[in-house]
Amino acid sequence: MSLLQATFEATADGILVTNGQGNILNFNQRFAELWQNALNQQVAWDEFYDLTFIARFLKKAAHFLSKIRDLYAQPQVESHDIWELQDGRYIEGRSCPQRLGDDVIGRVWSFRDVTERLKTEAQIRYQASHDLLTGLPNRKFFNDRLAELLAQAIANQSLLSVMFLDLDRFKLINDSLGHAAGDQLLQEVARRLRQCLRKQDIVARWAGDEFTLLLSDLNCIEDAVAIAQKILCAMKPDFNLEGRMLHVSSSIGIAIYPTDGEDAETLLKNADAALYRAKDSGRNGYHLYTSAINSETSEWLMMESHLHRAVERQEFVLYYQPQINVITGEITQMEALLRWKHPELGLIAPGRFIPLAEENGLIVPIGEWVLRTACRQNCDWQAAGLPPIRVAVNLSARQLRQPNLVEMVAQVLEETGLAARYLELEITETTVMKNVELTKTILYELHQMGVSMAMDDFGTGYSSLGYLKRFPFNTLKIDQSFVRDLTTDPNDKAIVAAIIAMGRVLNLKLVAEGVETKVQEHSLLSLDCEEMQGFLFSPPLPADEATLLLESQFL
Ligand code: C2E
Ligand code: MG
Ligand code: MG
Repeated sequence: MSLLQATFEATADGILVTNGQGNILNFNQRFAELWQNALNQQVAWDEFYDLTFIARFLKKAAHFLSKIRDLYAQPQVESHDIWELQDGRYIEGRSCPQRLGDDVIGRVWSFRDVTERLKTEAQIRYQASHDLLTGLPNRKFFNDRLAELLAQAIANQSLLSVMFLDLDRFKLINDSLGHAAGDQLLQEVARRLRQCLRKQDIVARWAGDEFTLLLSDLNCIEDAVAIAQKILCAMKPDFNLEGRMLHVSSSIGIAIYPTDGEDAETLLKNADAALYRAKDSGRNGYHLYTSAINSETSEWLMMESHLHRAVERQEFVLYYQPQINVITGEITQMEALLRWKHPELGLIAPGRFIPLAEENGLIVPIGEWVLRTACRQNCDWQAAGLPPIRVAVNLSARQLRQPNLVEMVAQVLEETGLAARYLELEITETTVMKNVELTKTILYELHQMGVSMAMDDFGTGYSSLGYLKRFPFNTLKIDQSFVRDLTTDPNDKAIVAAIIAMGRVLNLKLVAEGVETKVQEHSLLSLDCEEMQGFLFSPPLPADEATLLLESQFL
């Protein structure tokens, strides 16, 4: 055997040399073995005078034949393919032109069994894209397919649905029956889910007990709903978990492309929001996303249930912000400002929950609590020997519609023992404008009782100053938006000057809100406004700090 031949035999690849017409000139032992294994018998090599014999072992014989025809027509071309054999193996084949000097005289073919390599690669790919416990595709796989199918749906203008499914009370089962039972449940759920779906649908394990579904090519939204119903039905029979039969319901949230989102992220987010709706409305059901459920409304919903609890649990506190007469430097009044001490979210400002409390009516009991607490606090200050001042309490529009508001105020004053003249009620200009006649009646009754009245946030509504004459206001609070721009906007300065002048004529006390800087203070003073409230003097303070502030002023 020549050195060349020895080398030829020592390579790991099956090598074949053909002439320019495809006739076999030479091959090594490895090459013979590759095909002998396939035939399970000795090959009578003289039968196979050219390459086409390989085709009979392959699944795609015709493809192979046309390929070698092309290659022999183009002697310079190299090729690389993987061929699947009828016995299930995969053979990688390369073909390179054999050159002698500048001439191509034939081809050298090398073949190699790559079955194992492909298997390992496929397994790695599978593991990277599947959940090992349930065998379902994982989140990454789902996201990749979602991107692809979404692009298709956009191109074909077809419907696509993303669903979130979540087992109700899975955590409870996992914690009480153990992880083995939890795992069994997830596997069985995966099996039932797969049975409900069409071939082109995808179900993935998203995380924990959350599954995502991707349904493409829907004719209408009802198609998606039908599948969701089918799934809920399939989940109905009891699950056998470690010998225990257990009923486990689930909830499904549905989002549809294009109505509920045009990109993957939005669709997933909205399906998730719909899932929470489904859970909220009693579990074991499905819910279609509607644009009404966005994160804001779910926050709103959460807030609503928390707010009910807050009333029962007394999670409210009052802060007090002083009003100062800047000429004398004295505190003339304290405004009670409501805060919600949320156990998780911390201190919440009224702007975030009063509109909600107004809408659901909780402002009525909350408002009564504010009034009682502020009156009691003021009595405490007086009882501690501090010179009497007024306390101001804000009233909302809803409270003005409360039929017994006047009696309620009278009762609180009586109960706490605070003289009516030490209470001021603040009503915003917009509230007054909402129901002029009713407000007028109520204000007159309160005025009769000796309670002082203030118009809050003046300038933000559209009432004329002349209008004010018709109401028994004692105080006008100039809205902080004017104060903010007072020193920069000459219009604001002119408006504030007019308000102050008119207030004087009407014999109203004027208070500027939101004074934050010395420049604003001086500007207001030059316009003849002496009473101010704002961070420049003090932020709203908790009761004990407000008490200290009063004591340092007067004692
Ligand atoms: P408001 O009655 O006009 O209260 C003044 C608001 O301005 C307060 O906000 C106060 O913290 C803030 N503020 C005070 N000084 C400054 C300042 O120098 N700069 C700025 N930027 N802001 C200042 P807060 O406490 O968040 O209250 C907001 C609104 O919520 C109040 O406006 C009032 O309309 C309403 N509110 C507060 N407590 C109650 C309540 O018990 N019942 C009702 N119905 N409404 C309330
Ligand atoms: Mg106020
Ligand atoms: Mg105000």
